[in-house]
Amino acid sequence: MKPTSFKSTCCYCGVGCGVVVTKESNGQLSLEGDKEHPSNKGMLCSKGMNLHYTVMDQSDRLLYPQMRMNRSMPMQRVSWDDALERTAAVFKTFIKKFGPDSVAFYVSGQCLTEEYYLVNKLIKGFIGSNNIDTNSRLCMSSAVMGYKLALGEDSVPVCYDDIEAADVMYVTGANPAWCHPIIWRRIEAHKAANPNVKIICVDPRRTDTARSSDLHLQIIPGTDIVLNHAIGRLLIENGYVDNEFILDHTDGFQAYCEKVMQRTIAEAAELCGVAKADIELAADWIGQSRGFLSFWTMGLNQSVIGVNKNLSLINLHLITGRIGTPGNGPFSLTGQPNAMGGRETGGLANILPGHREVANAAHRREMEDFWGSPVEIGSKPGLTATEMFEALADDKLKAIWIINTNPLVSMPDMNAVESALKKARFVVVQDVSNRADTVHFADVVLPASAWLEKEGTMTNAERRITHLPKVVNAPGEALPDAEIIWRFAAKMGFGDSFNYSSASEVYDEYVKVTAGTSIDVTGVSHAVLQQKRSVQWPFPAEADTFDQKNNNARLFTDHQFYTPNKRAQIHVVDDENRSEPVDEDFPLILTTGRIRDQWHTMTKTGRVARLNKHIPQPFLQIHPTDAAKRNISDGQLVTVRGRRGEVRVKAQVTEDVRPGLCFLPMHWGKILGSNGVRANNITSSLVDPRSKEPDFKFSAVEVSLYQKP
Ligand code: SF4
Repeated sequence: MKPTSFKSTCCYCGVGCGVVVTKESNGQLSLEGDKEHPSNKGMLCSKGMNLHYTVMDQSDRLLYPQMRMNRSMPMQRVSWDDALERTAAVFKTFIKKFGPDSVAFYVSGQCLTEEYYLVNKLIKGFIGSNNIDTNSRLCMSSAVMGYKLALGEDSVPVCYDDIEAADVMYVTGANPAWCHPIIWRRIEAHKAANPNVKIICVDPRRTDTARSSDLHLQIIPGTDIVLNHAIGRLLIENGYVDNEFILDHTDGFQAYCEKVMQRTIAEAAELCGVAKADIELAADWIGQSRGFLSFWTMGLNQSVIGVNKNLSLINLHLITGRIGTPGNGPFSLTGQPNAMGGRETGGLANILPGHREVANAAHRREMEDFWGSPVEIGSKPGLTATEMFEALADDKLKAIWIINTNPLVSMPDMNAVESALKKARFVVVQDVSNRADTVHFADVVLPASAWLEKEGTMTNAERRITHLPKVVNAPGEALPDAEIIWRFAAKMGFGDSFNYSSASEVYDEYVKVTAGTSIDVTGVSHAVLQQKRSVQWPFPAEADTFDQKNNNARLFTDHQFYTPNKRAQIHVVDDENRSEPVDEDFPLILTTGRIRDQWHTMTKTGRVARLNKHIPQPFLQIHPTDAAKRNISDGQLVTVRGRRGEVRVKAQVTEDVRPGLCFLPMHWGKILGSNGVRANNITSSLVDPRSKEPDFKFSAVEVSLYQKP
């Protein structure tokens, strides 16, 4: 048999790089970047380059369904029918006794679009609960809300080609050099070819991104809005605003002016802990640029004031009219491969497919009619990610079905989450690997097919949809996630409405619900994607009749926004941080984040020996001044203690963090961790009141030398 090549998409971060996978005659896989893919043009980062090893190493795979009748018993291998019939029986019993809101699905930005669509259809349209949320709640929901409030919908207005058209990159609360490396390489290559390009990095840590930037604004955590307001004030005072755009296409400018004039630049500089001259320089560069792109991720989103941080950034684009033209616009970088696809299919507790809202009666009716729902879709949002685990702890939620995510490492306030899962009456875990800590808390375990073992679609951070083909068979009895859901729906008695035989059929149904919406993809199917490789949304049925590149590469080219009056909204926001306070007992701020060669909770990257070599063990970055006060030397074992828990880890004494700040990577859990270093033992469960995204970047801690008990 000759080697065969398949085009697919990297299933790690939201950059969505194209890959070419070659299957050799002996079944071995090799992989390279797809030179024809517009997102990465053949480049791959260290994680993407090693992706095929995660498929070839099947040593930790879940191979067949398992269940146990109570938690003191060991798991038993069972048939798919037995596992799904028992799960359906338990779900039906709870729904009958306690109502449909007694059950929930917690899914993942790694799920394919078809999978997201099916779970959403099942619980909202057939079970009658809005209790579906995703781990994207933990990373992107503040950006979603920021876009909705400012632009009228959750719409990323830019594309990667804007990088090469911009001359100022404002990278705030993000470390793309490590976390979105291919975006960063495009930025670096653009700067190398155009030395006048300026990169401004806003981050309390001196990351690799900060080191390579022209200006590093190393702000005190939580002062992002103060900084953005100061830049806004300078743009106004120095005549860099676009009065015509403001007048014709926005509301709220006057109130914004009044707000930003309340603090002088000197006051803002002091609050942020940076030099006044540096804020002035950043404002000058932005004001004088032809193309102003801003990039952000978790530093803005994972905050108790995450929505306000997003709005304060988008405001800089609105007052300067820097949106809808080449090289200009706000660009939220998604951390997961299909966080965007999940949002399109309504995979959050408060939305419905096609960017519809559960709070909108007309939208609910449209979906009920489309699905032929036997129930009315509820008008209240379902439980969000953190609320689900709180409800399990309080016995308000009786059953949770967790798909392709590992909340026992990724959720904040982990000890509370662990205790909630222990108390839960019924836990189903659908996953690929037994390395996921959460598997060991399940009553029913369902083995799922991994990347390359199933077919479907994903949407990357620039609204680009690609098709992922099935390349290899799944091991054992593992099934594609979509098939698990449609089989379960049949066991629940909804078989007539879940009568699919392929992911392609599911996708064909999904695209119909987008007709006439802002994300219209009625011109897309698996066949179209196989032929065109990828398209950006919107891509309506008539899309082939126009030049796609010029019509949907970026949104708002006509400056007509999705708000009711078509005008972008400049929101006035408070600049105060509302994170938990530091005090005498907990005087340091802990922030968490990623390292270059690991991804999320390491269930995939942790299997790849060459990725583990980069940074094999967790560490705590602490400033030399703070370390000296506590007699801590580099490499010593320390205890990091917060109000909810503690971890023991080696100290890395470094000026890369500000005084008063510590940094701990978020990847390690109990199973893969060394000595159980689980950063989220400490993190706060405070959430932004509108986006419900947790405040991972600001927890009060104390650090001391580890003392043996
Ligand atoms: Fe994969 Fe992201 Fe790396 Fe691209 S940048 S290869 S999508 S991990």
